[in-house]
Amino acid sequence: MAAKYIYRMDDITPTMNWKRFWQYINLFKKYNVKPLLGVVPDNRDPKLMLEESSPDFWEILRKLQLEGSVEICQHGFQHRYVTSEGGILGPKFGFKAQSEFAGLSYDEQYNKLKAGKDILEGQGIYTDIWMAPSHSFDANTLKALSNLGFKAVTDGIALYPYKHNNMVFVPQQFWEPQRVFAGVVTICLHTDTVRESLYEKIEAHLKSGAQFISFSDAAKYSQTVLGLLINKIFCCFFLLRLKFNENEIIKKLKRAIKRIIGKQ
Ligand SMILES: [Zn+2]
Repeated sequence: MAAKYIYRMDDITPTMNWKRFWQYINLFKKYNVKPLLGVVPDNRDPKLMLEESSPDFWEILRKLQLEGSVEICQHGFQHRYVTSEGGILGPKFGFKAQSEFAGLSYDEQYNKLKAGKDILEGQGIYTDIWMAPSHSFDANTLKALSNLGFKAVTDGIALYPYKHNNMVFVPQQFWEPQRVFAGVVTICLHTDTVRESLYEKIEAHLKSGAQFISFSDAAKYSQTVLGLLINKIFCCFFLLRLKFNENEIIKKLKRAIKRIIGKQ
């Protein structure tokens, strides 16, 4: 079973780099691939304020969603980091210890998440998919999301979607195309800041014959025992790759084999 790929575009705000946004939206349209857009309901992060605020922002999103070119998820609330918590994923997976949610009380988190959801719905955008700023969330975030009717999260280091605290996690493992033998792979793009040459690499991926699916289709995967086992193995490999580069892993393996052979 070949790998299936999802593209997601983070940090979608009225003040984003619009040229890049359209460049990638048009690229995905050309190849009939439906990306997941992470929309910040009320952006207050100065790093995401690159251009004058577009008055057409919500209209454009509604149109793209209606024509079926994209899926939309709620990306936090204001994209403002107020704690130095890494949450459930955090620094052990290479993510920064900073959060808009993790470490806050349940009520604080619920109120922020609801305020974000209300803004989106006030603009006619309904979604039950959530994307955490800086990959940071804790058990209270998941409880609040579930109580607000969210069903799925785009995050997690695994190879197949899995259930955790009442939510479906569709894992997000890479930030540019990577060949993977199987599983569901989400590639995360920060179109505001991606390097110019990534565009060609992504176009090559889109026309490579690889299989692409929407986030919603991936979230329908049912969890199996084999999938969970593969997820554990993938997670260990991801952690090893973070700690050592691939050459170091190979060197360590060679040394271990030599030691074993030497003992015989
Ligand atoms: Zn973000």
